Amino acid sequence: MSIIIGHHINGQQVQFGGATAPVYEPATGAVRAQVELANADQVGQAVAAAKAAFPAWSTTPVTRRAKVMFNFKQIIEARVNELAEAITREHGKTFDDAKGEIARGLEVVDFACGIPQLLKGEYTEQIATGMDAWTMRQALGVCAGITPFNFPAMVPMWMYPVAIACGNTFVLKPSERDPSATLLVAKWLEEAGLPKGVFNVVQGDKTAVDALLAHPDVKAISFVGSTPIASYIYETAAKHGKRVQALGGAKNHMVVMPDADLNQAVDALMGAAYGSAGERCMAISVAVAVGDVGDALIQKLAERIKTLKVSNGLTPGADMGPLVTKAHLEKVTSYVESGLNEGAKLIVDGRGIQVVGCENGFFLGGCLFDHVTPEMKIYREEIFGPVLSVMRVPDVATAINLINAHEYGNGTAIFTRDGNTAREFVSRIQVGMVGVNVPIPVPMAFHSFGGWKRSLFGDHHVHGPEGVRFYTRMKAVTQRWPETIAAGPSFTMPVNG
Ligand code: NAD
Repeated sequence: MSIIIGHHINGQQVQFGGATAPVYEPATGAVRAQVELANADQVGQAVAAAKAAFPAWSTTPVTRRAKVMFNFKQIIEARVNELAEAITREHGKTFDDAKGEIARGLEVVDFACGIPQLLKGEYTEQIATGMDAWTMRQALGVCAGITPFNFPAMVPMWMYPVAIACGNTFVLKPSERDPSATLLVAKWLEEAGLPKGVFNVVQGDKTAVDALLAHPDVKAISFVGSTPIASYIYETAAKHGKRVQALGGAKNHMVVMPDADLNQAVDALMGAAYGSAGERCMAISVAVAVGDVGDALIQKLAERIKTLKVSNGLTPGADMGPLVTKAHLEKVTSYVESGLNEGAKLIVDGRGIQVVGCENGFFLGGCLFDHVTPEMKIYREEIFGPVLSVMRVPDVATAINLINAHEYGNGTAIFTRDGNTAREFVSRIQVGMVGVNVPIPVPMAFHSFGGWKRSLFGDHHVHGPEGVRFYTRMKAVTQRWPETIAAGPSFTMPVNG
């Protein structure tokens, strides 16, 4: 009998029966469990639980809400291995990488612990005679999160700690490909003191997502995933009157200048291109070699790729695990074929790799293309696998124009020893997150995370100060306590006096 992964609604782990989808263990290729796919009625039950929990939670003193976050942080820190193993088994990434994802997610919980400071409003005494004014930020109500497979713990943590600390209640719809991590988290949040119904998890696919987008009691939608779906989420949720932040896909370039420390640049590229098998929205998938640096870069990268340790993510010392599903492996492999057909030079071919003991796993070794050009499909589209393209350009201005012309604008980096080149790059590049000699410039939680162009739809980046703004709305209050009643009504616009 296979394991059934259900939902977490109003403090209960529930199963409804009905439709399911397989959840794989990518390292072995085996079906690990079946995840239930909620229908609109079942999503409605989660939203109703969140709605019922909202009045009490939003009026719970902010210091008590912060205390829950402190407790939650301690629980996660104590159980990091359990959570990391759940991630590795369903996602495939290495165990150490899964722990890294949790550590980055915990930064947002740390940030949310400071919510009493973050929710302080602004006050002006004596804005007019005998009159004071202030602004304050209040929770929205039920907020929903829809998240991708590639960070099953961290990306949801970009959302719910801030939303909940602000006084909202939450319904999370995680990826159906690795649904277990969020169920652990849901139990631990309640152990930390979160009242039932404040955080709910519904498993599902498009049906569950569409139910959240249309539900009148859901006030805000946070989405992270691929660009076509992000665009759909943005339009559909906005049409239903919700505020939306929808983060999409990426094609991140790393510019290597001729004066860069080449060994440092190669180390950076190896981790950024092949870490997590390239299944990161901040992965570097294009190296832009400026001037005459291309040949040496290709040579060093090729040597290093051949030493990558590709194995089950639970094997100590693994650099890279499998891809998430067979379908995704086939998709990434088809990009390699497309690159060859379009004339790019495949320097290292990771196809057909055999991992002993994991013969049916969804593995692809590191792949490296040289002489990639802007018209090629492998350049235009997000591959989301361990495939690095190298492009050659004569100067930094051409590199900047190339990056600015791409439809995505999530992250980018430049490796150089020249301060002025770096400064110009930072200023002129049309990308939301920029690294100077830092390959994956993911902002810490007390800054916010987000891309530009078709990598983000909406006004706000996620977590950090932008997250607090997204999950609250401002109220401006003007108050006076007159000693005597003013003499009669006034029909002109009130002015200071
Ligand atoms: P995806 O877009 O396929 O799925 C994301 C979520 O949307 C899942 O919960 C899924 O169930 C749901 N979904 C899928 N198809 C849907 C549909 N037709 N209608 C409604 N909902 C639907 O993305 P994925 O494959 O899980 O994740 C990888 C993608 O996420 C990559 O493109 C990656 O760049 C992106 N990503 C972006 C960021 C970022 O910060 N910009 C971070 C992580 C991942």
